[in-house]
Amino acid sequence: MDIKTARAWVRAIAASVEAGKDRLTRLDSAIGDADHGNNLHRGFTAVDAALATHPAATPGDVLVTTGSTLISKVGGASGPLYGSLFRAAGKRLTQSAPTPADLADALDAGLAAVRKLGSAQVGDKTMVDALTPALEALRAAAESGADLPAAAHAAAKAAADGAASTIPLQARKGRASYLGQRSQGHEDPGAASTAMIFTALAEAAG
Ligand code: ADP
Ligand code: MG
Ligand code: MG
Repeated sequence: MDIKTARAWVRAIAASVEAGKDRLTRLDSAIGDADHGNNLHRGFTAVDAALATHPAATPGDVLVTTGSTLISKVGGASGPLYGSLFRAAGKRLTQSAPTPADLADALDAGLAAVRKLGSAQVGDKTMVDALTPALEALRAAAESGADLPAAAHAAAKAAADGAASTIPLQARKGRASYLGQRSQGHEDPGAASTAMIFTALAEAAG
């Protein structure tokens, strides 16, 4: 993943969050507080501005700036969680031209940061339910010698399946957990936005 692709990824996330903002907010209105779309829209608009003002020198810098900006601009649970994901991934992404395996290593470090902060397991009905299978698919594709576009497409498919898998679950983390059984039957908004993030990676990778 070169710097152009890293920038294109973040721009594609911003565009898809803008286009999907109302859907994310609708999902969050069913089992949360109806702000997930606005939270991410505010966050990625600020990320775009930060990257325009302070151009990053490496793919890792792009992700660190993305993460730090999300942490400082988004108040909800998703700001610190996504912020930690991108910041920890960016810190690990020290290569100037990371391979798919390097990206998998970096994003695994990001997922570890999310789990440390939010202590969610797979099955708790959170973004972790989409992130985990996406990163497993990215890793498997990288190990089988796939290039970034193919690896990113595999990750995007796994993330979408992971997001869909949250529908029947009862939430055990975040605001949705306050609803108990009433959280069942709705897709988790954070898992849905994670699927958008990996679709954006596939788009940016080509
Ligand atoms: P808030 O819940 O503070 O309003 P958002 O609506 O922006 O924040 O984000 C909600 C999403 O954050 C949830 O759908 C879920 O995916 C994710 N989330 C919440 N708590 C956790 C946690 N402890 N670990 C992982 N993800 C979480
Ligand atoms: Mg919310
Ligand atoms: Mg909120």
